[in-house]
Amino acid sequence: MNEEKALKRMQELIEILNQLNYEYYTLDNPSVDDSEYDRLMQELLKLEEMYPDLVDANSPTKRVGGKVNDSFAKITHELPMLSLSNVFTESDIIAFDNRIKKENINPRYVCELKIDGLSVSLKYEKGELKYGATRGNGVVGEDITDNVKTIKTIPLKLKEPIDIEVRGEIYISKKTLEKLNEERIKEGLEPFKNARNLASGSIRQLDSSIAAKRNLDAFLYHLPNPLDYNLNTHYEALEFMKKLGFVTNPNNEIVDGVRGILDYIARKTKERPNLPYDIDGVVIKLNNIKDQMRLGSTVKYPKWATAYKFPPEEVVTKLKDIIFTVGRTGQVTPNALLEPVSVMGSTISKATLHNEEYVLEKDIRVGDYVVIIKAGDVIPRVESVKYERRTGTEVPFKMTDKCPICGEALVQKDSNYYCVNKKCDAKHIESLIHFASKGAMNLNGFGERIVEDMYNLGFVKRIPDFYHLEKYKNELMLLEGYGEKSVQNLLNEVEESKKNSLERLLFALGIRHVGFKTATILARKFVDMDSLMSASFEELNSIQDIGSIIAKSLREYFDNPDNQQLIQELKDLGLNMKYLGKVVENSKIKDKSFVITGTLNIKRDELKDMIITNGGKVIESVSRKTDYLVLGENPGSKYDKAITLDIPILNEEEILDMLKN
Ligand code: NAD
Repeated sequence: MNEEKALKRMQELIEILNQLNYEYYTLDNPSVDDSEYDRLMQELLKLEEMYPDLVDANSPTKRVGGKVNDSFAKITHELPMLSLSNVFTESDIIAFDNRIKKENINPRYVCELKIDGLSVSLKYEKGELKYGATRGNGVVGEDITDNVKTIKTIPLKLKEPIDIEVRGEIYISKKTLEKLNEERIKEGLEPFKNARNLASGSIRQLDSSIAAKRNLDAFLYHLPNPLDYNLNTHYEALEFMKKLGFVTNPNNEIVDGVRGILDYIARKTKERPNLPYDIDGVVIKLNNIKDQMRLGSTVKYPKWATAYKFPPEEVVTKLKDIIFTVGRTGQVTPNALLEPVSVMGSTISKATLHNEEYVLEKDIRVGDYVVIIKAGDVIPRVESVKYERRTGTEVPFKMTDKCPICGEALVQKDSNYYCVNKKCDAKHIESLIHFASKGAMNLNGFGERIVEDMYNLGFVKRIPDFYHLEKYKNELMLLEGYGEKSVQNLLNEVEESKKNSLERLLFALGIRHVGFKTATILARKFVDMDSLMSASFEELNSIQDIGSIIAKSLREYFDNPDNQQLIQELKDLGLNMKYLGKVVENSKIKDKSFVITGTLNIKRDELKDMIITNGGKVIESVSRKTDYLVLGENPGSKYDKAITLDIPILNEEEILDMLKN
């Protein structure tokens, strides 16, 4: 992105975020999910980091989001009420920890639940509640004392007659939200969207009898001046607040290092559905107060704390187009092309729409904002539509009646449509599956399903694409069942396969009539790809075991400019084009035929390769012409036949010895 484009996008983002802040903080009526807001905010932060000269001083990244409503009296906070920086991944947490360690601090942390409500400052004088204030814009908040007094868990009088300011979160329990919404539905009113906005709307009611009916609650989690009370750690401050009569959250814990933080997050993620209130993450705070003070704050958030946000179970993005793809079985499926959306640091740009029935039932249209979830399927799917965000320009869905690849009319079976043209695209997927398969390039981990999905996702359309998969690393990690390690394994497999001997590649290319055996004969004979490609029909036809049909097929394949280009591309990608086995001129087993039966320690394919490489043949059934039977454990009927025909029998050791010599 050049500077001009970056500036334009930054201005766009500022405008959008300002509008979203207004809807969220002032109207308590957000139009987008928090994860969508967070994503836009992260995009702006990234651009500001890349282009520091273009940063707008009034950017929402530099200010606490809220606004002060004029209907309330204003209260200026003695110390600003800040927001929290956000972290989303394990590596973000490690970076946070490293930044602290860099200051020569040996950190211990307190982990707390991030209650999804709104923050409040409570001021007590001689132990009596003087006022309660919202965070507002961080510097000036709104006086909500009357409403705060309706919260039964906030003491009007403390257990000690001291002057103190405490901060915490006002929230509404899940049960209360449920009850209030039941009543609203009965009255024919729209239900409240979420507990956070309801809590915020309730505490900012001018009529405190309304707030009283909302059954608000509060957890206290911050003491702005702990040293005034001789408290050295945040955890001591939490205990102190509890002693004064405040409710602190029972899940607060001191943990050690990144490992302790991750363990806490894992446990709370599990417990989250059963908590009586909504949480949207975990807050991580440095425990030692003096260390906190050394680190200080930016204008927007403290450097000694951060909020880990739970990954959204669903993300919302715009559906830009619907395209059709053909699977291995010929089934034609609609797929959503999405405005790229980042989930846990990775990007999704496609999702499945299953079939016509699914799209029509949900009335999914091009131009819609849609909810994407990662379900049990490998490919993320479009779960639902945000109908309320429709503008009227969305285009209704129409299932195609032609195969998107070959143009053939589709045939309907149940609610699915199929391309029954045998020559169609399905064969592209088949050829990719074949390329990766065990007997061919032997790309472990690239089974049929994953290759098909990679094809449909657009990661692997042609053979060379296997060798460009690195660029989809992040997206691959999003696939169900894949993590950093398994994706790395896939990439290693691909890299490793570049070293395969020529016969594997020849077989993998899927040249008609060229099986592994023929590929091996060719590789041994010509040693490198170029010599094979330039061999004439006559030359090929004259090789023992290569008849005119194979010779013709080879010439046809190599004369096709598309195939020439493909091979050149693979060469450029660094794939080995040479035969790596020994060229065995006077092998003992040259032209000898072997039959293998039973289980061996060595992989059967490997042994077959070795025999063929040494000039031997591997045959499926025993006949008088068989030279040797290789015998493993639990042999089948081939063994009986070999005995009857008096065929020499070799055990594993003997055949390997023979091959070595
Ligand atoms: P924040 O919610 O990311 O984090 C700071 C807040 O966490 C504190 O102010 C406090 O209220 C709260 N908190 C809860 N438990 C806490 C604990 N144990 N310790 C400390 N603090 C705790 O920051 P924010 O500035 O309040 O709000 C920004 C967030 O609000 C965004 O990341 C987004 O999720 C949401 N938002 C959404 C929209 C929207 O349109 N959907 C718009 C604006 C903001």
